[in-house]
Amino acid sequence: MHGQMMQMPLLISSLLTHAERNHGDREIVSRRVEGDLHRYDYRGLGRRARQMANALKAHGIRHGDRVATLAWNGYRHMELYYAVSGSGAVLHTINPRLHAEQVLWMLEHSGARVLFFDLTFMPLIEQIAARATRIEAFVAMCDRANLPRVSLSKPLVSHDGLIAAHDDDFEWPPLDENTAATLCYTSGTTGNPKGVLYSHRSTVLHSLAAAQRDAFNCSAMDAILPVVPMFHVNAWGLPYVACMVGAKLVFPGPWLDGASLHELIETEGVTLSAGVPTVWQGLLAQVEASGAGFKTMRRTIIGGAACPPPMIAAFQDRHDVTVLHAWGMTELSPLGTVCSPKPGVTVDSAEDQLALQAKQGRAPFGVEMKIVGADGADLPHDGRSAGELLVRGPWVAASYFRRADEGMLRDGWFPTGDIATIDADGYMQITDRSKDLIKSGGEWISSIDLENIAAAHPAVAMAACIAVPHPKWDERPVLVIQRKPEAQVAPEELLALYHGRIARWSIPDQVFFVDAVPVGATGKVLKAELRARFSDPVAAVN
Ligand code: ADP
Repeated sequence: MHGQMMQMPLLISSLLTHAERNHGDREIVSRRVEGDLHRYDYRGLGRRARQMANALKAHGIRHGDRVATLAWNGYRHMELYYAVSGSGAVLHTINPRLHAEQVLWMLEHSGARVLFFDLTFMPLIEQIAARATRIEAFVAMCDRANLPRVSLSKPLVSHDGLIAAHDDDFEWPPLDENTAATLCYTSGTTGNPKGVLYSHRSTVLHSLAAAQRDAFNCSAMDAILPVVPMFHVNAWGLPYVACMVGAKLVFPGPWLDGASLHELIETEGVTLSAGVPTVWQGLLAQVEASGAGFKTMRRTIIGGAACPPPMIAAFQDRHDVTVLHAWGMTELSPLGTVCSPKPGVTVDSAEDQLALQAKQGRAPFGVEMKIVGADGADLPHDGRSAGELLVRGPWVAASYFRRADEGMLRDGWFPTGDIATIDADGYMQITDRSKDLIKSGGEWISSIDLENIAAAHPAVAMAACIAVPHPKWDERPVLVIQRKPEAQVAPEELLALYHGRIARWSIPDQVFFVDAVPVGATGKVLKAELRARFSDPVAAVN
């Protein structure tokens, strides 16, 4: 027997319509590439998104066509989030920090017909325009006055000019909820990037889960600052969640340094922010140096890489900002887990509390997780057994875009490539990415554990632990350390931190100091680069 309820497709356009009707005057504030602060509200967003939808239609953008962006977090990007997906086309967001050749490869692979870009990326556009064969038009995300006077082989128009030429009378089409909405490529540290094609349904379900109290805990009372970029995994879904709950949105544009972020947080009354650990380092350094605190910000979501416990402690103990440690992946839209409290999970000391929060957390409804050993058999959820993490759920990718299915799923589960433990309370902890694992004398050593210990030293700005080849033990762990400006620390002092805390054989063999730990396009440490540099320790020292 069928239930007798309405069939309403879960559509991205309905998020915007909801925000316009119920939170019409809630603000969206953006620092623009032009240098000033722009503000309007959900009503303004709705109007301009519909005008842009008319402009896309006039250009002949049809159902399923790809429209690409190379842009920071800002209101014009937000307009495209809704105009493109809402009208049935696919928004292909591209990470502008990638190499020009990779950007070009993705444009060709996705077959995007129009490319929108922030003025910052004009040089990149000039570099790739002639070779971007599928692109029919370029749109600079600015007003007519700021349109660059350059000649490209294809038409170049301004975003505001396009909008001004069309009215806001547009009906969002009643799409099938499984229609593709956005496309994001994984950063592809090995091989070509892989595209993940999200649907309207997966996006709306992901937003419902992400907004929950035990996840990102979002409400109409919040002012949300997504530092996490809209060009990578849809800024963790926050542009959708904000419409869903009616939160104020604050976009930082290209200014991601500590001082700019802090000023925006204070002047706009931000209550919740989200970003990768490397971004928060700058912010923390800024507030510690200036002695300023946070008047309104009470929560920050940190994910994308393991959050070092000293960072959690700094936010919570010194600034009264609760850290929500989260784990996810491009293939998971991205939310997989959030480390939120649970009754019955007792912590006896501040150190235990930090150890709990260093875990990546629990799965919300909609994400199922399991860990398996090398033989594929399920491992117990005892907090000790570490194995490959597999997930499934309605916002987990089932295959990659335009790629012959290389058996991406295993018995209906997506193998994440992360190595993790899960404890009896359901808290998952990543010990490593499988390709970064350190295998020494037949045992696995968790690089994240070793990094967290070194990161606790006050002179350490960033710690990365990598495997180097060893004739007897196969591999041995070594530490690569970036010191804080002006700070000094000897290798022996760092290595002394490990004694008595971990098994002797897992203590790193050596410490190398670098000016800057290399970080990739999505804010993660480039361990492959470090391995290449330090795999011959003798050579590296000299
Ligand atoms: P990529 O394009 O590099 O795959 P993703 O943004 O999809 O970029 O990265 C997902 C990966 O990032 C995860 O598989 C995991 O290894 C790592 N990651 C994400 N969040 C965390 C976290 N909180 N702790 C540890 N690792 C994390």
